[in-house]
Amino acid sequence: MSTQNSLNDLVKLFNLIEDYYEEGFHRRHSDVELAEQMAGPEDQFLEINNEISSCRKCGLFKERNNTVPGEGVINPLVMLIGEGPGADEDRTGKPFVGRAGKYLDSWLMAIDLDRRKNCFIGNIVKCRPPDNRDPLPEESSACLPYLQRQISFIRPKAIMTLGRIATQILTGEKSGIGALRGRIYSYQGIPLAPTYHPSAVLRNISLRASVWQDLQKLRSVLQNG
Ligand code: SF4
Repeated sequence: MSTQNSLNDLVKLFNLIEDYYEEGFHRRHSDVELAEQMAGPEDQFLEINNEISSCRKCGLFKERNNTVPGEGVINPLVMLIGEGPGADEDRTGKPFVGRAGKYLDSWLMAIDLDRRKNCFIGNIVKCRPPDNRDPLPEESSACLPYLQRQISFIRPKAIMTLGRIATQILTGEKSGIGALRGRIYSYQGIPLAPTYHPSAVLRNISLRASVWQDLQKLRSVLQNG
């Protein structure tokens, strides 16, 4: 065998080795991309729920029976956001299941929404504040990243905040809910309509007319969006 032939064979061998490693790399790379593509919003959402279930980022973990991450459909028409779970929610791990939750369902029904079909319901904090007190600022701050991730994964068409705490936190405004409601804000580029918390309306039925106006605003956002 000539020296030139030996050199040619050596070059071919190096090219083969290079191709093998390049193909191997691309194959591994594609596997990762495929896995990421297959990890849809549902998987990502389950991952957040798992993190929440073992979370100890604020003191509310100490007295909780269950975390309440929220529930509903992916890509809902509306994501409803309250301030935190109450006793019924802490017991069941589900959002808005008590009297206020049933009342909220009737609001949704009035504008052709259904929590099982086209809504997602959650809260600012995922663990119950003792005695249903307002969440402390540090508790809300610790928990807010979970909500932000939920919103970016499920991408609701509109958000409705329920009550002062959720509205102040997501709009960055300081006024009471009476002054904040009646307008459309934006959160993460999503239209946000605030209204009263259903518990507040159960205590003061005269707020019903304002809630109805807010629901009409929400409906027109959905129709025009
Ligand atoms: S309220 Fe939120 S931040 Fe605090 S322990 Fe529960 S999940 Fe974690």
